[in-house]
Amino acid sequence: MLLSKYLLPTLKEIPREVEIPSHQLMIRSGIMRQLASGIYEWLPLGLRVVHKVEDIVREEMNLIGGQEVSLPAMQPRELWEESGRWDFYGKELIRLKDRNKRDFCLGPTHEEVITDLVRGEVRSYKELPLLLYQFQTKFRDEIRPRFGVIRAREFYMKDAYSFDATDKNAETSYNNVFGAYCKIFQRCGLKFRSVEAQTGAIGGTFSHEFMVIAEAGEEIMVSCKCGYAANLEKAECLPPPKTERKRSGLKKLEEVETKDMKTVGEVGKFLKEKPDKFIKTLVYKIDSECVIVMIRGDHEVNESKVKSYLGVNEIFLADEKTIEEVTGAPLGFAGPVGLKVKCKLLADYSVEGIVNGITGANKKDYHLRNVNMSRDFEVDKVLDLRKVKEGDACPKCGKRLEFSRGIEVGHTFKLGTKYSEALRATFLDKQGKEKYFVMGCYGIGVSRIVAAAIEQSHDQHGIIWPLPIAPFQVLILPVNYEHEKTRAISDRIYEQLESAGQEVLMDDRDERAGVKFKDADLIGIPIRVTVGEKTLAKNMVELKLRGEKEVREIQPDQVQKLITELMKEKED
Ligand SMILES: [Zn+2]
Repeated sequence: MLLSKYLLPTLKEIPREVEIPSHQLMIRSGIMRQLASGIYEWLPLGLRVVHKVEDIVREEMNLIGGQEVSLPAMQPRELWEESGRWDFYGKELIRLKDRNKRDFCLGPTHEEVITDLVRGEVRSYKELPLLLYQFQTKFRDEIRPRFGVIRAREFYMKDAYSFDATDKNAETSYNNVFGAYCKIFQRCGLKFRSVEAQTGAIGGTFSHEFMVIAEAGEEIMVSCKCGYAANLEKAECLPPPKTERKRSGLKKLEEVETKDMKTVGEVGKFLKEKPDKFIKTLVYKIDSECVIVMIRGDHEVNESKVKSYLGVNEIFLADEKTIEEVTGAPLGFAGPVGLKVKCKLLADYSVEGIVNGITGANKKDYHLRNVNMSRDFEVDKVLDLRKVKEGDACPKCGKRLEFSRGIEVGHTFKLGTKYSEALRATFLDKQGKEKYFVMGCYGIGVSRIVAAAIEQSHDQHGIIWPLPIAPFQVLILPVNYEHEKTRAISDRIYEQLESAGQEVLMDDRDERAGVKFKDADLIGIPIRVTVGEKTLAKNMVELKLRGEKEVREIQPDQVQKLITELMKEKED
């Protein structure tokens, strides 16, 4: 490919409102452009990377017996009502009506459609196991799209679904996909880790996430030397040891004036008490109902644990008006004692251990001290509702947990019979008995992998592509393409490499050398061949790897041979 003819609009300036390096570099290197918030166009260079990832994924899925299908993005409401997710999915589901006023959605995932297909076509255990997959654009109306394609509203995924006759076979299918996923991420040149994850809106019995390890990653992973690894949402917190829950020396409940002091910090400073004495009280709104969640002042609520306990997909902190209705006080003075409206009260394990604690008094400018659970207020449930934090113990072995950051690029779910039961999808077993399919579902964020690879591999000058997913393998950079000998040698190397099957981009633009070198570093093609007058005088050209400092001088007719060897080396 000749760069003078190629749509590659690189930018010098750092685009505004871009938070992480991969997003910035994807715009600057002409990989993509934003059309609307969370919606992107892939330009030629970017799409080549997408296709590289797609090819690797397809090969590995086929190797474990996957069969490729293509399912519609537009899906009828009725199917989603059968599974119960039309209501459950909430505002993330993009809904629309056709001209006959029939409801549809744009699929964020395809459990309903695939289960419907299989229930209509597969009758017998003899046709199982079945593993179907597809590549497709998915839609999710993110409340806050950010980080480019990492949290986008329209994104490209590979999703797969397994159907088995028994739970044991389903586990084998799960393990097969798990193994294929490990190979896929390795082949893409990514450093990754698999962690236990919550099943969330997909549901099922257990799940794993595959995380690319990256500083700017949105997700926090916790892990332990014993092998335990989970994402922050899933990571369990153990209940405090029994001794901490002992209750003695309970003091008399007391109201204190705390004018204009709303936060744990402000009130704590005034009362000379540490945050761990506070019972932080949060009002959540779920549809039309309110739920009170309490947690110790030095901890944070893990909303995903709250959602999972309540069996809902979305929860929101109540607005000020609702807080006033429920507590009788403005924001900042909520507490579990004397609420105005009856709500469900949930307490994190950490609240149980608080003796003579502090909470809002449900009265403007007042707090209560010496508050004790069971004596002063009752809760509906005490459970694990907090985020793990640095210093916490591993739930498996008790040692200290380690924290790192990552970007989720894959997710596997053991679904069980959740969807086959809801959609009454059955087959006949050996004995001729009707049984529900045991299912699994598996996703890989293809567009996300592109961003994650950049996040993991870049420097201050630009992208450093891992060879297997690089848009081109070689960039030829003639310093001055107008110079006759430079042009002749560059053209010859270009032709030799192309005919050897290598993917080559040649910067034949009439640009200053400085611009060409800057762009070369920015777009990050792994191998650069520089053809310049100075080295040509010695019958040499320069060869440099994007990730390394060393520049080698070689004879022009050695270039193709050396590059072939280099690539073989990288592949092994
Ligand atoms: Zn451990």
